[in-house]
Amino acid sequence: MMDRYAVIGNPVEHSKSPLIHHMFAEQTSQQLEYGRVLAPLDAFVETVQAMRAQGYKGANVTVPFKLQAYALATQLTERAHDAGAVNTLMFQGEHIIGDNTDGAGLVRDIQHNLAIPLHGKRVLLIGAGGAAEGVLHPILAQQPALLVVANRTLDKALAMVRKVEAQGELLYVSVQALAFEDLPGQAFDVVVNATSAGLTDSQLPLPPSMFAAGSLAYDMMYGRETPFMAFARAHGAEHVVDGLGMLIEQAAESFYLWRQVRPDTAPVIAHFKS
Ligand code: NDP
Repeated sequence: MMDRYAVIGNPVEHSKSPLIHHMFAEQTSQQLEYGRVLAPLDAFVETVQAMRAQGYKGANVTVPFKLQAYALATQLTERAHDAGAVNTLMFQGEHIIGDNTDGAGLVRDIQHNLAIPLHGKRVLLIGAGGAAEGVLHPILAQQPALLVVANRTLDKALAMVRKVEAQGELLYVSVQALAFEDLPGQAFDVVVNATSAGLTDSQLPLPPSMFAAGSLAYDMMYGRETPFMAFARAHGAEHVVDGLGMLIEQAAESFYLWRQVRPDTAPVIAHFKS
């Protein structure tokens, strides 16, 4: 029987992960199946246990189960622990190993695919939900000059910043939490939108002068032009990108964990962009 994997979510039918992983498998001559599993909202744990019983080797976890996956894992990688959420599970005997590849995917897309180093940059991370938490440490690890976390609910941004301060990781990086209304007057080299505002086509109340010359505006959402991307284009961001590259890079990182083979993401990204 071929090794089996799946993405677990609710909803999950829109997920591109099966196609991405099948492209990786074909490219690297790996024999595997990768499907979609719709978990009932109140039965994530039962769904995972049933998959283990059926012999699945691992899974990706998407909305809204990343926190439950974190709680279910019997072992966590350091980056899953830092993120407080799990997007990749590995089933090994009695163990359920939880990892989080979202942050690595974002950083790789920015630094490798877009060739924009984060080191020494002024970075604004918008949002304080699961996606923002997942990318915070991987961004900090690149030692930007400044990292500002801005969120509609300021308390959540403050809590995120306090958590990293408590972990003592801010040796060379200045980290701040700000409300949107306190952003005017600051310019950033890299602005990452980790909110779900694009899902409802909502405009974020951002100041027009926030994009420094040569800056990158990165929306983690993918599939369509968001109001944030349109705003960034209109106000001087040089590079405006959606989260497709991150999606494919986090998938590649999961694939590597499961198969110990690193796929080439460039042709997969090109396929989805065409
Ligand atoms: P959460 O529900 O955990 O967090 C949502 C965040 O968006 C919060 O910070 C919330 O602010 C903010 N928000 C939502 N609506 C608005 C609005 N109208 N105005 C201002 N702020 C708003 O979601 P996630 O963090 O899990 O996901 C966020 C996005 O990231 C999604 O679009 C998701 O698709 C994308 N994503 C992409 C990935 C990729 O691989 N490309 C991977 C993971 C996520 P508040 O705290 O005030 O409610």
